Amino acid sequence: IDFTEGRGWHDARLTPYGPLTLDPATSVFHYAQELFEGLKAYRQSGGSIVAFRPYANAARFNRSAARMAMPELPEQTFVESLELLVQTDRDWVPTTEGHSLYLRPFMIATQPALGVNYPSRTYRYMVIASPAGAYFSGGVKPVSVWLSQDYTRAAPGGTGFAKCGGNYAAAFVAQRQAVENGCDQVVWLDAFEHRYVEEMGGMNLFFVFGDRLLTPDLTGTLLPGITRDSLLTLADDLGLTAEEGKISIDEWRAGCESGELTEVFACGTAAVITPVGSVKGVDGGWTVGDGTPGKLTLRLRDELMGVQYGTRPDPHNWVHKIC
Ligand code: PMP
Repeated sequence: IDFTEGRGWHDARLTPYGPLTLDPATSVFHYAQELFEGLKAYRQSGGSIVAFRPYANAARFNRSAARMAMPELPEQTFVESLELLVQTDRDWVPTTEGHSLYLRPFMIATQPALGVNYPSRTYRYMVIASPAGAYFSGGVKPVSVWLSQDYTRAAPGGTGFAKCGGNYAAAFVAQRQAVENGCDQVVWLDAFEHRYVEEMGGMNLFFVFGDRLLTPDLTGTLLPGITRDSLLTLADDLGLTAEEGKISIDEWRAGCESGELTEVFACGTAAVITPVGSVKGVDGGWTVGDGTPGKLTLRLRDELMGVQYGTRPDPHNWVHKIC
């Protein structure tokens, strides 16, 4: 769907997958005015194909758009664009258990203009789809994380809460450093002291103290994950205490050493829930619990996937039927 200032959204169309032709001066190439979303369509046990909380993605898309001086797309149009694409061929949605169809709505600034003073006056919104299996090849095998001291993902007033490509471009070097230090994933810390935990590469983090869950609060510097939000609600449904707040790397380490902090996991659309097994930083490292997936981690994963795949009730109407 195209957008032109003064005219609004127009020319919605469904086309075969293929290359785009764009002017070399197109503003997205130069000033990265771009944003995206990520969600999945699941084939449920009863045969229906559903999306998980697509209106939450639509709302986040528009919050990102506002930050990037880009036009908002009506939520209904966002959801209908996903429905239309998936309905084109149901067979795109894998039948293998635990697999799904990943949907990638995104928007780019399309005006050819080298002037840096004004945002583009034209935009294009698109959706592509791709079958997806397990995110980490080890399945629910715990991941090791690297605490990034050299790099900062986001500062207050910046774009941390928005799902814009630039956040990810700036993260590659930190992810590479994590791998060079023998870890699977980078964990981002706050911009000022590099002391408080923000999030993991493409996932939010939860800390489990017995039956109390803690996740870093949304201060504008981390992505408000839809999985994170769903787990806060699910934990409440299960009678657990789920809180949003601050946690420092010293508290993380001390909690693991005293045994009070029993489990840590990361969550997001791609990998659902992944346990964190060990932590490493410039001051050394430690393990979380006994390094194997924790009980609550596996339970919450089971509950959430149960809602997504239709084997558990959906009291919050998170599942949106597509066909
Ligand atoms: N943080 C970042 C930086 C991400 O890219 C993602 C994936 N969208 C998440 C957290 C998790 O968000 P969600 O649960 O909506 O997939």
